[in-house]
Amino acid sequence: MDRKQFLTRSLKATVGTLIAGPILANTSSCNTPEGSDEDATTEGDDLRDAPAPLVLEQVALPYGYDALEPSIDAQTMEIHYTKHHAGYVKNVNEAIIAEGVTATDEGELLGAVGKYSPKVRNNAGGVWNHNFFWQVMGPGGKGAPEGKVREALNAGFGDFETFKAAFTDAGMKRFGSGWAWLLEQDGKLVIGSTPNQDNPLMDVSELKGRPLLALDVWEHAYYLKYQNKRNDYVAAWWNVVNWDEVAKRMA
Ligand code: MN
Repeated sequence: MDRKQFLTRSLKATVGTLIAGPILANTSSCNTPEGSDEDATTEGDDLRDAPAPLVLEQVALPYGYDALEPSIDAQTMEIHYTKHHAGYVKNVNEAIIAEGVTATDEGELLGAVGKYSPKVRNNAGGVWNHNFFWQVMGPGGKGAPEGKVREALNAGFGDFETFKAAFTDAGMKRFGSGWAWLLEQDGKLVIGSTPNQDNPLMDVSELKGRPLLALDVWEHAYYLKYQNKRNDYVAAWWNVVNWDEVAKRMA
């Protein structure tokens, strides 16, 4: 039973790698040796009686690296996805094994992440936040939402421009590295930000709620193209928000 579960999880991890494969294929040295073969041989028998470790996965990028040009340049996207995000995935999965994390799914891990090391907290957040971030962006954005999302933002903040200014402000005022969020909190829309790779699903986060939209304001998200001008990055980012994905996440 456990062995079967282990094999299933391993297979899932392999499928995840294969899906990401074509996107990663044209990049050099992005795949550091993963050691998956070593893991299989060294873990082997010890895991026979233990539950299979949780494996966090990197979603396939739903568009090409250059799809968000000119708002977000291809080189930034490629490095962000293949180095930063892939690094969080590798690190958290190592830490899950090293620390004997017992959570059986990602949500459970985030909800109890305070029990574990900063390595688990930072990298689990890095995995989840970027998987979410890629999905709420896309090519062909209209800059502003229509329909249900527009109505909800009007109801919550007065009008779209007021919402946009407040969300931008949350991203601009985040000192150092972190994220700006639009959340649903007990049926109410709320704007906030988190430091580092924390997110509103974590037990340790002051800001809590169900994420509808997120903006990465780490320098790695914009520095190649915008250098120190975070405000220019945020202004351009509105053009690549995928409002259909935001709508899907609204109750
Ligand atoms: Mn990032």
